[in-house]
Amino acid sequence: MTPLESRLRHIIKTAGSISVAKFMQIALSDPEYGYYQTRDPLGVQGDFVTSPEISQIFGEIIGLWCVVTWQNAGRPRNIILLELGPGRGTLMADILNTAKKVSPEFTNALKVHLIETSPVLKQQQRAILKEYEITWQNDIEQIPSEPALIIANEFFDALPTEQYVMTKDGWYQRHITVDQKHDNLSFINVPLKKQESSVFPNQISNAKIGSIFERNAISERIMRSIAERIRDNGLASLIIDYGHTQTQLGETLQAVKSHKYHNPLTDIGEVDLTSHVDFEALAATSKSLGTKVHGPITQRDFFTSLGIEQRTRTLAAKAEGGQVPLLLEGSKRLIAKNGMGTLFKVMAITPKRGETPAGFELKPPGNEA
Ligand code: SAH
Repeated sequence: MTPLESRLRHIIKTAGSISVAKFMQIALSDPEYGYYQTRDPLGVQGDFVTSPEISQIFGEIIGLWCVVTWQNAGRPRNIILLELGPGRGTLMADILNTAKKVSPEFTNALKVHLIETSPVLKQQQRAILKEYEITWQNDIEQIPSEPALIIANEFFDALPTEQYVMTKDGWYQRHITVDQKHDNLSFINVPLKKQESSVFPNQISNAKIGSIFERNAISERIMRSIAERIRDNGLASLIIDYGHTQTQLGETLQAVKSHKYHNPLTDIGEVDLTSHVDFEALAATSKSLGTKVHGPITQRDFFTSLGIEQRTRTLAAKAEGGQVPLLLEGSKRLIAKNGMGTLFKVMAITPKRGETPAGFELKPPGNEA
C-alpha cells in the first residue's frame, strides 16, 4: 500500500467516505505524496506524453497564434501571457522562442506568468525558461487583472471532477470508501446534499439507472476567472484538451501509469488521474459572463488551418536526416484522424466584440468538426 493510500484510509476512517473530486485532489496534490508534487510525469520514461513534448511545431503555431491575436487586438503595449499547468515548460519555451523571431515588439509587451503547483515541474520550467523573466503563481486569482493571452493545454483534464450516479431513487453522489471485506478502496453512492440537486443540466435528463454524470466545479471556477479577465481587459484564451464538445453522460475518470491504463483506486499517488473536459459546460460558463466562444473545433482542424503541414515540410527540408522522420511522425500524430487530432479539441474565448481568432474562421462557433 502506498503511503498516500494509508493517509486516505485514515481520513476515511475518521471523517467518512470522500467524494471523487476530493479523492482526485488528494491523489494528485497532497503536499507530501501527491502525484504532481513528487515527480515529472511527462515523457517516454514517465506516464504520459503531451503535444508540446511530441513536436516543437505545436508550440510554434501557438506562438504565431498569440502574435496574430495580439496584432488583431491593436498591439497593446503591456499584456500578460499566462499559461495554466505548463508541465515541463516546453510549450511556453516554444511560444517565446517563436515570438522572439517573428515579433520583438510582441515579446517586449509581455509579462509571462505561469500557474503551477508542482515543485518538481516548476524546477524544470525554471531551467528551460531561464533566459526569460517569469512569475509563478499557484492560482489564477493571484494574476493581475490586465489584458491577457491565457493558454491551457491538458490542464483542465487534471482538475478534480465530481461524479454522480443515477439510482432507482434518483441522483446520488459517488464516493470512495474502504471496503472492509476486501480490504481495498471502493466506490459507494451517497445521497446528495441539498445544494447539489442543481448540478444536473437538461442534456442528461434521460439518464438511466447506473448512468454516471461528471461535473467539474473547479474547472468552472477557473473558467469564470478566465472569462471575466478576457471580458474586462481584452485579448483571448486558448484551451486545448481531450474531452467532449457536448455535455453528456458517461464515466471518463481514468488512471494512467507508464503509458497504460490503470485502476484509479490502486497505487494512489503513483498514477495520473484525469477526466474528459466538458467543453459545452466551459463554453456555457464563459458565454454567461458575456464573452464570445469560438469552437470547440478538433485539434486537427485547428492546426491544419494554421498550416501545420506546410510548416512541417519547411522544417523537414532544413532538418538533418535523422530528425526528418521524427518531425513528420510528430505532426502526423498531433492531427491524426483516429487519435489526438480528433480526441483533442481547441476552444478560444474573446471579448464579445473581439475578432474571430486565427484557426476558427472556417467553423461557426459550437460546430463540431
Ligand atoms: N501543459 C503541459 C502539462 C500538462 S500536465 C503539457 O502540455 O505538456 C498538467 C499540468 O497541470 C502539470 O503542469 C501539473 O502540475 C499542472 N496542474 C495540475 N493540477 C493543477 C492545479 N490544481 N493548479 C495548477 N496546476 C496544476
